[in-house]
Amino acid sequence: ETSISVVDPRNRRVSYQDVGGLSTEIARIREMVELPLRRPEIFAQLGVEAPRGLLLYGPPGCGKTLIARAIAQQTDAFFLSINGPEVIQKHYGESEEVLRKVFEEAQKHPATILFIDEIDALVPNRETVLGEVEKRVVGQLLALMDGVTSRGKVVVMAATNLPNAVDPALRRPGRFDREISINPPTKAGRREILDIHTRFMPLSADVDLERVAAVTHGFLGADLAALCREAGMASARDSQRGDQSGDTRAPLFVTMAHFQDALASFR
Ligand code: ATP
Repeated sequence: ETSISVVDPRNRRVSYQDVGGLSTEIARIREMVELPLRRPEIFAQLGVEAPRGLLLYGPPGCGKTLIARAIAQQTDAFFLSINGPEVIQKHYGESEEVLRKVFEEAQKHPATILFIDEIDALVPNRETVLGEVEKRVVGQLLALMDGVTSRGKVVVMAATNLPNAVDPALRRPGRFDREISINPPTKAGRREILDIHTRFMPLSADVDLERVAAVTHGFLGADLAALCREAGMASARDSQRGDQSGDTRAPLFVTMAHFQDALASFR
């Protein structure tokens, strides 16, 4: 019914350790998001405006949402999350009202992180958009962002796959004036992501994740997660064959051959 999802602290399961290949990005985000919430007085003393809005951008499947979830878990701040397309589709004509309410809720708490996923759906470039409703929503979000400083300790974090589709007014100083790109992983990043997604797998000694990382150029985090799942499935299929031959109690392993099977299914 409502597009506001509040993250229950008891369900917080993602941590920074679950995000691979983005340690520099995470360090910068933490500095921009956590510091102003935890120690607002530092900014006051230095006469520097604390960051209000942060835009994460980059191709889908590289970890933007994952980072937001990790931040929600690892700070004590109240975490509010909305999704651009959801607000527009479910609340067409009432989107402005929904936004107003979300910001109102955000300001009720001593410290809040407000996450807006797929913000491009909410604030498309006004030059390319015809509808009056859309234009009003953009205007509303700009006004709400401008209203944030005076009141509470709210940091708004938004994610988009299409930074250039976002209305440029949103990226001006005092609004989403910090931007961090979340890029496809390098080989070292892919290795970290593979380590994360095989953490709970019984890997046989022949599994060479360094090699898997080397041959998966162009794979994004989401692809690597799927690859590991697929390797696990290949092992499960093998174990079924074992069943039929009567070998039911053999310990299960995921082998390099399973990774090769999985890789083949991606090509
Ligand atoms: P979108 O823009 O579509 O929301 P995204 O960049 O936010 O994409 P996620 O939804 O965070 O991507 O990633 C999808 C899934 O892929 C994650 O739940 C996770 O399993 C895996 N994944 C993506 N990036 C990483 C990463 N850097 N480290 C570990 N796992 C990752």
